[in-house]
Amino acid sequence: MILTDLNPSNGMGANCFLVELGPFKLVIDCGINPKEMGVKAMPELHRLEDHRIDLAIVTHCHLDHLGALPVLLKHVPDVEIAMSVPSQMIFTRMLHNSVNVMKRQREEHYIKEYPLYSHDDIDLLAKQVYPIMFGKTKRLQKEGEELEITLYSSGHVVGAAGIELVYKHRRIFFTGDVLFTQQSILNGAKFPKHPVDTLVMETTRGATEADPYYNRNEEVKSLLECINHTLNGGGSVLIPVFAFGRMQEIMNLVHQARLRGDIPISPVFSSGLGMDLADYIDKITKRTELCTFSTKVIREMRVKPVKNLRPGKRVSMPGLYICSSGMMVQHTPSWRVAASLLPFHENTICFVGYCDPDTQGGKLQQTKPGEKFLFEQLKKDFPLRARVRKFDLSGHANRDELMSFALDREPRSVVLTHGDPDARNWFAEAFANAVTQPKVTIPKSFEPCLV
Ligand SMILES: [Zn+2]
Ligand SMILES: [Zn+2]
Repeated sequence: MILTDLNPSNGMGANCFLVELGPFKLVIDCGINPKEMGVKAMPELHRLEDHRIDLAIVTHCHLDHLGALPVLLKHVPDVEIAMSVPSQMIFTRMLHNSVNVMKRQREEHYIKEYPLYSHDDIDLLAKQVYPIMFGKTKRLQKEGEELEITLYSSGHVVGAAGIELVYKHRRIFFTGDVLFTQQSILNGAKFPKHPVDTLVMETTRGATEADPYYNRNEEVKSLLECINHTLNGGGSVLIPVFAFGRMQEIMNLVHQARLRGDIPISPVFSSGLGMDLADYIDKITKRTELCTFSTKVIREMRVKPVKNLRPGKRVSMPGLYICSSGMMVQHTPSWRVAASLLPFHENTICFVGYCDPDTQGGKLQQTKPGEKFLFEQLKKDFPLRARVRKFDLSGHANRDELMSFALDREPRSVVLTHGDPDARNWFAEAFANAVTQPKVTIPKSFEPCLV
């Protein structure tokens, strides 16, 4: 197999691979880099123009895997696109939101090429997308040869898929973003157990030491205790979350805790895309039974929209704020709420997933109590008096789990993707020290690798 990484930043970000297997050419994922803007955030899709692409496959609906998909059609107009059934139900909603965000950024940052695509482009794209059920093999034929493609649930978010390709008895497996442990609304990954020849794996948490005693339920318990303590003390809690997946998971956990009496019945606030996606995930639950989320959770908690915030001033009603974005990107609801909670000692900000160190969320985690925290776009700083706590409820498997999954598959060749250089290097070293010592490849942007 020849694999070419089309992501210009070569780290995490605009995930997009060209995969060549005999006569077959596939594109896997077509994302945008959340840390960049304009064309710099995009994979270099013009490099696909000389290829006849047989199929594009999207592993899941986070924008670092999906966000550039409408632009793919401008370079490879007639390409067919496959994704899991839940992803097919949700991807247009994610992309329409992305158009709105780009329109806003065009005004705020004068990015003249934004939006990179229109709402109409998404409607056109939708006609070229078809769903594949988990575990059902799709066969492509070309020049008398056959390629088998099977998607398996990867646990990370609703609809997220690992991809198995079989060509001439060679088995290649792409993990996509993966979580092996069960969440309250979604089972962990259900990957095949048989050996593979080539394993292309994510490495998101490679630079983070895994706690051998880690237990997700204990972590949930600690989060709930922290919420309980803060609300009972008259303070507010902010949980910054990704709109897709994490928000609905946290809502569900909070709802269950309220029913059990583990946390007080207090106002719950949220807003934006995540509330809308809750409706979609409710529908996916009803139609596919691939997750277990109901909007009843939101109705019973009487979730209210976030409004009337003034930076540096206390919120008018204390409560629990479950708001996107997870990394507190500027101008998002979680960032705005933080500007009202952070200067007051009675409040707590609870991070539940990964924050890039360059984002406002990442910087807040590095701020010591009493130090001033700068809200960059507001050009205002406030002293950090609220508690900042971190809970490991990540949507990604830890490095030990991934290593043991990888070694059990006995691959001859491993490709390390979707991670910062430190994260990939940790895995490279771990494989070098393993008994089987597979060939390890860390792809460089635009350089075809034989794997
Ligand atoms: Zn993801
Ligand atoms: Zn990702």
